[in-house]
Amino acid sequence: MSFFNSISRSMTRAQRAPKRATTPTSATFSPTEVAPPNNIPPSVAAPAIPKPLYLSSPFVEAALVKGNFKTIVMLPKYVDIMEWVAMNIFDFYTNLNEFYGVIAECCTQQSCSTMSAGHTLSYTWINHERKSVHLPAPTYIDYVMTWIQNLLNDEATFPTKAGHDFPQSFPSTVKHVYRQLLRVFAHIYHSHFHQILHLRSEPHFNSLFAHFLSFGREYELLEVKDVKGSASSPVAVGQLWEKWRDMGILEG
Ligand SMILES: [Zn+2]
Repeated sequence: MSFFNSISRSMTRAQRAPKRATTPTSATFSPTEVAPPNNIPPSVAAPAIPKPLYLSSPFVEAALVKGNFKTIVMLPKYVDIMEWVAMNIFDFYTNLNEFYGVIAECCTQQSCSTMSAGHTLSYTWINHERKSVHLPAPTYIDYVMTWIQNLLNDEATFPTKAGHDFPQSFPSTVKHVYRQLLRVFAHIYHSHFHQILHLRSEPHFNSLFAHFLSFGREYELLEVKDVKGSASSPVAVGQLWEKWRDMGILEG
């Protein structure tokens, strides 16, 4: 880790959001997605579902960064790849946490009784008894963000001091983190995009998400199946990814 890098990270970390309460569940979860029991066949349901606003013009093109994201995800010269991934994950977490903080009052146990990310998709949480359970979205997101905050604060997982190496488990840990951050993005797009529009934040939010997707693909932190979901339970925002690829904003 270079000296400059060490300084810039410690400066960034000083701005970290307030520490959250300890999550009541195990941190080694791997939630899975399930379709609700009374699932309407997609062939019947499809015509009734209007096109989401985030796939519609002009919102689909709204971005702060113009052009392809490839250049901003490239590893800078002389920067260690682990450091680069750690710094970017910290930034994605911080920015997404801020966005969620702004819309959180609209994401309640009543409005979002499950962690929905598509018309037939609600993510489930693996609890401490290893059971897959549905949680209201605000609870699910609080667990995710608390878990990530604790990892970022853990010197053994995200070392910040010179001479401390990244653990061997770092690549698999950051993949878990990435998958969970993706789910938070997916819920916000699916259930709260109108609030993002109301705040006129869609260029910023789209840019953050496109950057997140581009970085995830470049460093193999993101599985295509997690972005798109399954045929019976597609991730709604997976269509946005495909649209951005068609538009040349993202690569394959
Ligand atoms: Zn919500």
